[in-house]
Amino acid sequence: MSLARWLDFLYPPSCGLCRTPLRDGRYLCPPCRDGLPRIEKPYCIQCGEQIEGIVADDVLCSQCRGLEFAFDFARAAASAQGPARELMHAYKYGRQVHLHRELALLAEEVWDDPRVSAQCDPPWILVPVPLHWRRQRWRWFNQSHEIARILAKRRKLRCEQALRRVRHTDQQTLLNRTERLANLRGAFRLSRRQRRVQSLRNKPVLLVDDVFTTGSTAEECARVLIEEGGAEKVVVLTVLRG
Ligand SMILES: [Zn+2]
Ligand SMILES: [Zn+2]
Repeated sequence: MSLARWLDFLYPPSCGLCRTPLRDGRYLCPPCRDGLPRIEKPYCIQCGEQIEGIVADDVLCSQCRGLEFAFDFARAAASAQGPARELMHAYKYGRQVHLHRELALLAEEVWDDPRVSAQCDPPWILVPVPLHWRRQRWRWFNQSHEIARILAKRRKLRCEQALRRVRHTDQQTLLNRTERLANLRGAFRLSRRQRRVQSLRNKPVLLVDDVFTTGSTAEECARVLIEEGGAEKVVVLTVLRG
């Protein structure tokens, strides 16, 4: 018996949310998968926020009106509420690393958006939002890289750790957008390898992260990817929208 089979035998795979035993190699049961609060049309064409009510397709939410962004637009698969929030919490803070595939499969649903799926020539390059090494050591892994890696494999795209986080910033929950942006200025740089190989030059980049909240992290990463990396454009793809 292989080690993986032994581990399955000792720790039978079960649903990450309701604990129902599973045998199909998945870590979410079908009802829990269906119960995740998907973001469906209408949503803001800039930040991907779900918009209530009946509105035209090309709509900007009230927060995005009058703002300029370095990235083209952001899309998230689900809202960071209820079971989706619980799942991400178990993954990030409960160190349930095996949940990364379920989160990547959820993020992949964004390929329903023609603005994402139509980009083929040249194809997207996936770039994960980096963690500061201190935080990564504490968490053991970078959730965005794990998700980007699986997505890249499934969509047959390249994944490059083109950014590094050079400065650790404190929790930003109490700051507004302008303060967050000022606080993040200079927190990200191109990786040393990317500086050398310049492989993002004139390429479309999908910036991958776990959660999009105010978009200030995405904004700062996109700015570095375009200004320093020469990316043609940056689109933000996250599993959840906070
Ligand atoms: Zn379940
Ligand atoms: Zn918006």
